[in-house]
Amino acid sequence: MLPYEILARKRDGAALSEGEIANVIDGASTGTWSDAELAAFLMAVAIRGAEPDETRALTRAMLESGEQWDLARDFPQLADKHSTGGVGDKTSIILTPLLAACDIPVVMLTGRALGHTGGTADKLESIPGLSQDLDRPRAASLLRQVGAAVGVATGAVAPADRRLYALRNRTGTVESIPLITASILSKKLATGAAAIVFDIKTGEGAFLPDRAAGEALARNLVGVSRSLGRQAEAVLSDMSQPLGRWAGHACEIRESLDVLEGGGPADLREVTLVLAESLLRLLGVAQGRADLERALSDGRARERFDRWALAQGADAAWISSPQFPRAPIEVVSTAERAGILARVDTRGLGFLLAEEGATAAGLDLSVSLATSARLGDRLDRGQELARLYVRSDRDVEAVRRRLTACFAIGDAGHAPTLCEILAV
Ligand code: URA
Repeated sequence: MLPYEILARKRDGAALSEGEIANVIDGASTGTWSDAELAAFLMAVAIRGAEPDETRALTRAMLESGEQWDLARDFPQLADKHSTGGVGDKTSIILTPLLAACDIPVVMLTGRALGHTGGTADKLESIPGLSQDLDRPRAASLLRQVGAAVGVATGAVAPADRRLYALRNRTGTVESIPLITASILSKKLATGAAAIVFDIKTGEGAFLPDRAAGEALARNLVGVSRSLGRQAEAVLSDMSQPLGRWAGHACEIRESLDVLEGGGPADLREVTLVLAESLLRLLGVAQGRADLERALSDGRARERFDRWALAQGADAAWISSPQFPRAPIEVVSTAERAGILARVDTRGLGFLLAEEGATAAGLDLSVSLATSARLGDRLDRGQELARLYVRSDRDVEAVRRRLTACFAIGDAGHAPTLCEILAV
């Protein structure tokens, strides 16, 4: 079938067959479909939507366009987590050694920053020496040694997604749920984990702020994963304010260690435990919340972090005495009136951090944000809201005004629901 025949059918609202979709993805991988033809396909899907069978076929074809590691063949209880990303979301860094300490192996392909949200791969660069290059042999070796492998795939995982993703960015088709589903899963399923939990952020600072869109994405991700033979569940978690107290790069590793040592902020600890519990449930193992909490309080999770980081090349001197750089200039924001913290512009905070951290030499991992006010808190006039640590003393007053504008104080407001399992 010629590209224009497939495109015309999709344009007119027909559901494409598995063969037609395989034809599109083969064209994306081999170059026989031009950018114009692929862009037309993306726009037709964005406008017309896709049936569950089409989304499944698209995911499978994109997955099969690249390497598949099938690691569950060697590690039948292999677990993975995916988050749609948020400000201060560092749950992967905690959940991985936590589950490994409970004898559940974890593999995770990490990503870089996307828009206003930070990437786990960038945060992990704060650990000197840590290598994030992963291929199948290295992932298998790490899983055997320390039960955890986290990094960026070196081989060609889902090459079709690379081409389509770049086109989506240029054609206004990023927000399409079937396209997001296939894009995420073509990479997520490539490692071959047996169980995956999806952390779908909701609220103003989420990739998809609209709750209905977030739920639709969650249902798609879980449905397609299950139809392709994986155990899967979704958690909807709040991103109407940053998760935990700290957001940035190095400071998020430090806060992750606080949780791994049995402390840390309650919201971060809770979301991580809910996600980890979900994976234990999906794997059908006889462990639960109490086992996870014990691994945090008795030092096993923290010890596993060290073993995992060392196995991935972390500097032994840093592991024995971790240091976290913090940018030297403090910009403090305070409440301009008394009242209740009613709204946080989480997206604005994320962009502020990203802009302050972007330098000609690359990311400044020491730029950090500490928030001290939470939604629903009653505040006095002059009470501290947040503190941003930046490198440059240029425009400090403008940065302070921008920071303060991210916090709306009113006469009413409430703490949001932190997270819930979505029934699918
Ligand atoms: N992350 C992805 O990998 N793909 C998307 O489409 C969106 C987020």
